[in-house]
Amino acid sequence: MNLEGLHHVTAITGDAPRNVDFYSRVLGLRMVKKTVNFDDPDVYHLYFGDEIGTPGSILTFFEFPGAARGRAGDGMIHTIQWRVRDEAALDFWAQRLDGAVREEGLVHFDDPEGLTHEFRPTGSARVCPAVDVPDAPLVAPHPDIPDGYALRGFHGVRAYASDPARSAQLLEALGFAGEGADWRAAGAKRSGHLTYDAPPAERAIPGAGTVHHVAWSAADDAELEAFSGRARDGGARPTPIIDRQYFHSVYFREPSGVLFELASRDIGFAVDEPRETLGEALKLPPQYEHLRSQLEQTLTPLGV
Ligand code: ZN
Repeated sequence: MNLEGLHHVTAITGDAPRNVDFYSRVLGLRMVKKTVNFDDPDVYHLYFGDEIGTPGSILTFFEFPGAARGRAGDGMIHTIQWRVRDEAALDFWAQRLDGAVREEGLVHFDDPEGLTHEFRPTGSARVCPAVDVPDAPLVAPHPDIPDGYALRGFHGVRAYASDPARSAQLLEALGFAGEGADWRAAGAKRSGHLTYDAPPAERAIPGAGTVHHVAWSAADDAELEAFSGRARDGGARPTPIIDRQYFHSVYFREPSGVLFELASRDIGFAVDEPRETLGEALKLPPQYEHLRSQLEQTLTPLGV
């Protein structure tokens, strides 16, 4: 039993319409679910991903309308890493994205609210040839982006940590392989990286353009229970299993300060609407369906 890399990454936006424009139109992800924050239903929770929102491709945003920009600091994820096919794909993105920086073997840029992304080519070979994980490309078709250049799912996340050694015991308990600042969760089909970098001097400020948490991929409730046991053995204090409608989740903070979630792969986004029209209608969990007419008046209109 291993975590199959990343399940999703969740960040914060203060400007949902611009967020949807950037991640759908510019980056070419599909908006696979338009719902509300289950802990605060007055605001959106927007999900982007490949064509069906496969775990390993899912980037989600909590909307806090008008939120001030935050700043990643010690204990926070500062960069989201994605896979692209090759160097030609990097050249494509370096041209397409305002402010993109092309370096040897990567492109990095900030989204309109300052959230940093990094693209890395996988080539036809694997990201980590030492471990035999297929990491099939997770692609959303897009009219302006040739399939060969499209994003192919997450490579990993980079976080700031002043003393990453503090996290080693928990990461090992969860089955991550690595040491020091470089860790990897590798299952049979997918893998994902966690890299720690020395933090900046300025303190962290949560806000728009910052990452809220990273979720790692577990099969089902039985695995969530088993991994929760491992997390407790590693010194963490996981929550009970929580129903997130499209997956089940447990949460705990790892010792360097990053909020971890373990999320299940056994439900998915087609549970409450057809695959063909994912993301088009506002979907509400049963406990908030009675608020629909009110929410449809007050939620920020999104031009999709
Ligand atoms: Zn989550």
